[in-house]
Amino acid sequence: MKNIRNFSIISHVDHGKSTLADRMLEETATIDARHMRDQVLDSMDLERERGITIKMQPVRMRIDHGGEKYILNLIDTPGHIDFSYEVSRSLRAVEGVVLLVDGTQGVQAQTLTTLQMAKELGRVIVPVVSKVDILYARVDETKLELAEIVGCDVDDVLEVSGKTGQGVAELLHTIIDRVPAPEKSETDDLKALVFDFEYSEHRGIIVYLRLMSGTLKEGDSLELAQSGNEFKALEVGVAVPDRVSTEKLGPGDIGYVVTGIKEAGVASVGDTVREQGAGTTPLQGYMIPSPVIWASIFPESQDDFDDLRQALGRLRLSDSSLSFEEESSTALGRGFRCGFLGTLHLEIITERLKREFGLELIVASPSITYCVTSEDGVEEIRSPARFPEHGKIEEIEEQWASVELLTPRKYVDILMQLFYEYEADVKNTSVFGDGRTAFDIVMPLRELVRNFFDEVKRVSSGYASLSYTIQEGWHEADVQRLDILVAGELIPAFSRIVSRRRVEQEARSLVENLHELLPRQLTATKIQAQAHGRIIASQTLSALKKDVTGHLYGGDITRKMKLREKQKEGKKRMQKGARASIPHDVFMEVIRRSREK
Ligand code: GDP
Ligand code: MG
Repeated sequence: MKNIRNFSIISHVDHGKSTLADRMLEETATIDARHMRDQVLDSMDLERERGITIKMQPVRMRIDHGGEKYILNLIDTPGHIDFSYEVSRSLRAVEGVVLLVDGTQGVQAQTLTTLQMAKELGRVIVPVVSKVDILYARVDETKLELAEIVGCDVDDVLEVSGKTGQGVAELLHTIIDRVPAPEKSETDDLKALVFDFEYSEHRGIIVYLRLMSGTLKEGDSLELAQSGNEFKALEVGVAVPDRVSTEKLGPGDIGYVVTGIKEAGVASVGDTVREQGAGTTPLQGYMIPSPVIWASIFPESQDDFDDLRQALGRLRLSDSSLSFEEESSTALGRGFRCGFLGTLHLEIITERLKREFGLELIVASPSITYCVTSEDGVEEIRSPARFPEHGKIEEIEEQWASVELLTPRKYVDILMQLFYEYEADVKNTSVFGDGRTAFDIVMPLRELVRNFFDEVKRVSSGYASLSYTIQEGWHEADVQRLDILVAGELIPAFSRIVSRRRVEQEARSLVENLHELLPRQLTATKIQAQAHGRIIASQTLSALKKDVTGHLYGGDITRKMKLREKQKEGKKRMQKGARASIPHDVFMEVIRRSREK
């Protein structure tokens, strides 16, 4: 145990965590050159396509140090604000963290937030400047900043390049020197903290855990302390990063156990694995984060309802920040109201449902929670379609967020303009290090989730950064419900709650997007936006020409046939009403466009 070091890499998004991890895996010969590819720990296709890390990923490495053999367990973590829960989970499973700051960008708001989390847990922090190979990197300034926020000597800050590999070996040895070995526990009773799950079709739930005390081997009779599920360890092992079975796991180790449990929803992260019937006190678990936004998801075909339930259950295993409950709607049938940590999170989950489970879905516009007082009493409402009619509403209240935003001086003016657009109120300003400005802001959560994060990034060319917390209590909200009608029929999935001052703008852009996205119908179709019982924007989609395949030149006959099939299906559906003639992809595309506009 004295030769084990457990650590994770934390940083702001894109500061080079996954690339540094690649070099560590090479340096320790964990992955041979033939199998190496960029950001190898980003194992999901979706992660690789978008170049972002969504899930934390553990990996075990071996290294010689001072004539002895050591085991290094690394947990790579995501950096986007929507996935910070993954970070907080990994921090509980390790003794130390590498705090990585991009030398071309300097310290960012999220660097500070994660650093704070690591400090509160008493983790040893190894400060490192990354991307030092880049000519214009401000290495010395960044080292000073890091020393200041960590509270250490400038000489204790290391330099690495994930591109050239410079400094990586030194960093690994420094980790062994500075990060303590796992503490020896008082008992030999098995206590293991569950920090992640995976599901295997053949072998059921696979639990990733950190052993705090005791040992674990194949065949052991075990149980999950909180959920009460009992199981036999079908296999134990470590991730390198593929799973490799080992004889046993000992105290301080990070590894996995195959449980054979097939029912979803039984287990959650933060649970403790212990011996069956041992009755040992469980470890302190995790706080499950509350969702920030909600969206109702319906299967396009009601026959897929059970598949959707199962798919959500599976995804929840590896993403405990996802929550869902059944709901039904007269127009859309049975579905689920799902809670997410942000709109990117929503987008990733729906994309995974589609790709990994082949589901075709109708996703309603996301919303935060509103507290609505009407003739019928007070109710917390999370779905725009469930808002009472405007005449019945007495008061609408919403939550606010406290935001900490950090920016180089030259973006201050343009950001101030953005604050105005997003109803953000600056409470305090302070100047940080080299003239960068830190803002303390309060703003409606509704505005924050309206892609504030991405807009801040855009106007500052990626240099400004932010972190936020949701405040306690409720504020009166000046909002209205905006509805969309297609061919005179209200489409509940498009309804949304918007700030009164943005209703008309939002109405116009929604109608315009739908005009572009909706396929033409047999007759001309009106697309209208309505608020407070009034039509405030409208466009007409012209009627369909006779042959939809006309514009498809070239020889792909199967594609044409598919289209004809679709056209036939479309006709069938249209007789059932307008709703069915809206292709399911349009729902997600509308959400994506309003996130990226
Ligand atoms: P993460 O989001 O923190 O995991 O960051 P990634 O490892 O995905 O890196 C983000 C981007 O920075 C990628 O395009 C990398 O190729 C690039 N990058 C990472 N490390 C270095 C480095 O040391 N030098 C240079 N020049 N580029 C780097
Ligand atoms: Mg990454």
